[in-house]
Amino acid sequence: MTKILVVDDDTQGLYMLRTLLEGHGYEVETAVNGQIALEKARTAPPNIIVSDILMPVMDGFNLCRTWMLDKELQTTPFVIYTATYTDAKDEELALSLGAVRFIRKPSEPDELVTIIEGVLQETTDDHREIAEIANDEEPVFLKKYNERLIHKLEDKVVQVKHANQRLKALNWVSTNLAAIKPMRQIIAHALHIIIEAMEYSYANYFAFEEQSQLFRLIDAVAYTEEEFKELQRQLVFKLGEARGLVGLVGRDRQPLIVAETSADSRWIAADESLHSALFVPVMHEGELFGVLSFFSTEPNAFSEGHARDMMTLANNLAIAIENARLYEAEQKYAEQLEAEVAARTAELQVALEQSQAADKMKSRFVSNMNHELRTPLTVIKLYLGLLDHGRPDNWERYIATLTRETERLQLMVEEVLDISRLDLGRTTAHLEPVDLNFLIGDLIMDRAELATAKSLTLDFEPAANLPYVLADKQLLFQVLTNFLANAINYTNKGGITMCTATAVANDQLWVTASVADTGPGISDLDKIHLFDRFYRGDAGQNSSAPGTGLGLSISREIINLHNGQISLESTLNEGSTFTIWLHPVPTSVD
Ligand code: ADP
Repeated sequence: MTKILVVDDDTQGLYMLRTLLEGHGYEVETAVNGQIALEKARTAPPNIIVSDILMPVMDGFNLCRTWMLDKELQTTPFVIYTATYTDAKDEELALSLGAVRFIRKPSEPDELVTIIEGVLQETTDDHREIAEIANDEEPVFLKKYNERLIHKLEDKVVQVKHANQRLKALNWVSTNLAAIKPMRQIIAHALHIIIEAMEYSYANYFAFEEQSQLFRLIDAVAYTEEEFKELQRQLVFKLGEARGLVGLVGRDRQPLIVAETSADSRWIAADESLHSALFVPVMHEGELFGVLSFFSTEPNAFSEGHARDMMTLANNLAIAIENARLYEAEQKYAEQLEAEVAARTAELQVALEQSQAADKMKSRFVSNMNHELRTPLTVIKLYLGLLDHGRPDNWERYIATLTRETERLQLMVEEVLDISRLDLGRTTAHLEPVDLNFLIGDLIMDRAELATAKSLTLDFEPAANLPYVLADKQLLFQVLTNFLANAINYTNKGGITMCTATAVANDQLWVTASVADTGPGISDLDKIHLFDRFYRGDAGQNSSAPGTGLGLSISREIINLHNGQISLESTLNEGSTFTIWLHPVPTSVD
């Protein structure tokens, strides 16, 4: 069986070659460097040797030279199979040392087998002419050999330099991305550093919008403002769309290299100077964020290595974007909370102010009460004294005063009780259909005498077919009584007219009841405070009629309980009209 000695320090490569050659019926011996190969060949010579060049201990060049100087081995054909020394000068040296073939990896496996078969054929046919071996002296060989080594070293230095540059850039970008920044800043930062470190000509980032399934250009490096705006308008891609390649990379979620843009029909020639491109998807935990694209004015500027590096970068970028997103969401949530707290604080502030106002009102109420109760009591005390010591012929006057002050006191106590019941919410309106005409008829009868006593007319103009109102009869009677009592109290000549009506306001039907007098009228200042508790206006203060200044505020609270309203029209020296507005009983549809 034909025996092949394969020499390679890459054990994976060795394994593949062994499988390939054994599959073709050869016996395969392996060695991981030149030294071992020589030992094995000297013990059991192979029919052919296939050797790599770059290997530790003894490399392929040295092995080939020693092989060809060995009388036993030099007739065995030597084939070089190399991935690292691929220069024409390397081939020249190898062939000058006696190698029969110089094959560059990766070549098709079949091709390698064909070459080996060819070489073996030449040997068995005895056609093989032992190559004109440059039987150089050792120093000459060493000089040529060193040249190749140095050349290789230079190559390697450049490669290492580039690799270092890439790693540095990656490290730089990744470390800097770890700090949370606004999303836009992260992307701009990454693009700039990549451009600088990798010496690419341009870099873009297209963000993916889940809702519209579109990619939009949100950042680009190395363009002017105008160019960028124009590109933004021009470069919008749908997910999966081949044109422009961005949508395609987003769909496939794999990096894509364009070696020569002019040869790719999907390329959009927005800039003729660009010759090669690299597209990389930006994803995090299966979610697509966008696509990074890098361009070069050189053809073939991007290798698989670049793609791998930029994928690493894209993954780091995605984490940074995700962090920024979470940070921004948290920030927004915090702002929302802050706004809610501010709103709540404002509400509490209002509540506090309201409670402070209520407290103030209560204090004023207490001090007013103190004053209002004391006045009639002092008068009563005084007149009781007069009854005791005063002249008996004045008794009638004393008793009249005592009666008036006692009534005033009683009225006040009742009104205070009314107010406190209203304040405590203990007054509930028991709503029922009420005929206002009927209620006012009763009231007029009740008070007619009082009006007559003051020589005032008292008229009632009821509206015909007046709808019933939903009201608490007793509370409503109290309000109308208060209006009428005020009108009688404060009017000295002329008279009072009560009337009912219907009216439309705010697109609603209302039932109204009003009390109009020809009294002194109400000043603008009084109009503002009339419904305040304990407020007595000009008329109240100038009149001898008992009063507390609570009647109108009680009336307003009662009408509020009915969801109704009170309106006032008044002209000084002409008279006043107080009107209540109430909802009619809803009529059934059928
Ligand atoms: P009181 O009548 O006990 O003073 P009210 O709250 O009923 O308390 O009325 C408050 C004030 O409104 C009165 O003091 C008076 O100045 C004014 N007022 C009420 N009704 C009339 C009216 N018909 N004409 C003129 N002034 C009025």
